[in-house]
Amino acid sequence: MIVPFHVTEMLRRVRQKFAKPADEARMYPNREAFTALRPVRTATPESVSRFWQRLSGGEEARQALADETTLENTSTYSANIENLIGTVKVPVGVAGPLRINGVNASGDYHVPLATTEAALVASYARGAHAATKAGGISTAVLYEGVLRSPAFVFDGLLQAGQFVDWVVANIDALQATAEATTRHGQLVSLEPVIDNNIVFLLCRYVTGDAAGQNMVTIATSALCEHAASECPVPIRAWYVEGNFSGDKKASSLGTMTGRGRKVSASVTLPADVVASLLQTSVDAMLDYGQVANLGSLLSGQLGAQAHYANGLAALYIATGQDAACVAESAVGFTRMERRGADLFCSVTMPNILVGSVGGGTGLPSQSACLRILGLQGSGHGAALAEVAAALCLCGEISIVAAMAAGHFARAHESLARKR
Ligand code: NAP
Repeated sequence: MIVPFHVTEMLRRVRQKFAKPADEARMYPNREAFTALRPVRTATPESVSRFWQRLSGGEEARQALADETTLENTSTYSANIENLIGTVKVPVGVAGPLRINGVNASGDYHVPLATTEAALVASYARGAHAATKAGGISTAVLYEGVLRSPAFVFDGLLQAGQFVDWVVANIDALQATAEATTRHGQLVSLEPVIDNNIVFLLCRYVTGDAAGQNMVTIATSALCEHAASECPVPIRAWYVEGNFSGDKKASSLGTMTGRGRKVSASVTLPADVVASLLQTSVDAMLDYGQVANLGSLLSGQLGAQAHYANGLAALYIATGQDAACVAESAVGFTRMERRGADLFCSVTMPNILVGSVGGGTGLPSQSACLRILGLQGSGHGAALAEVAAALCLCGEISIVAAMAAGHFARAHESLARKR
């Protein structure tokens, strides 16, 4: 029997760290006294200063994070963070103009991308150039609905069934209770799922122009409290989220039925655009696309795509979205097909969770990025989702072209290492 190298190597490294018997002591619980940080919900320049008295890193670190502009805006940041000590400056680049001929997004967009990854903006900008040269990307929101999935626990299957019967009979009151908590949120469907003595209620909401995670949590909590107080069936326990909704997780449910906005985006690239701007050929891109799809299948990816997460993370950070939602948003299907001499490219992304209001969209630099897009405030949620999908399509076009032409490593070497 052969023990794999990674196991033997890890054991060797651990043994090195525990050469003396006393070394083990650092793994034991350490009950030495410590002073807990006093939590601060509403930050002031003074509260920021108090934290810095406890932090290492020195004056330079303090100046870098707690700069003048941040200190002037402590109350604005307080709506989005606790224990504020400053702001991290993430570089922002721009990709565009990106022409979008969409149901909701329309025009030439300059897309701000916040990242520390060299080559990322260059790659998306190259894809945007090719797509715009081809006439622009067509986009459509195909579905919207943010899920919350509360769970109710009963003594047995019989009581679970009786609860579902009660829910169906009382659906209007449950809906009214949920919707009383919000002006923009609407409960559009409620689907009970029974697993023996546990009932999940898949509650789908439209959330206006907000991404909506808080909105649906607050509405669902009210719905659950109503059920708990009015339903005659004894409920042993209930939880506002039973971890069924796919919140911040890539899931089969999200891939099939969507969470947030489902968007499809496509463009047909003329062969000459592929040759001149992407420096490869339609055949070479299709050949690589086939291999990449096989790789997706073999590795058990949810969906099949190259790197939606790159563009989404940079866009989400720039525009004040919940960056953790990239975990669920970066799922979907990229397709590339021959259309005559040209190349049809599309992405379909079922879980885009973005808002043009709410969350971090009102913070100073994040709202500035939304203003660059012309998508700040009410009325722009769907357009922002279409921009996100179009951006991801640009990234897919660029990376497939780079792989097909054998330029991928060279581009990273010259953009990330050699400058
Ligand atoms: P939010 O800022 O909590 O709520 C959106 C607010 O905007 C609501 O007060 C809403 O009013 C108002 N609003 C004004 N104009 C609107 C319009 N045109 N469309 C929709 N709403 C409008 O943001 P959210 O989108 O609900 O939640 C996003 C945040 O939730 C993110 O920061 C994310 O990090 C966080 N999050 C929370 C959970 C959770 O379980 N609580 C989970 C994941 C993420 P009305 O409500 O009266 O309509």
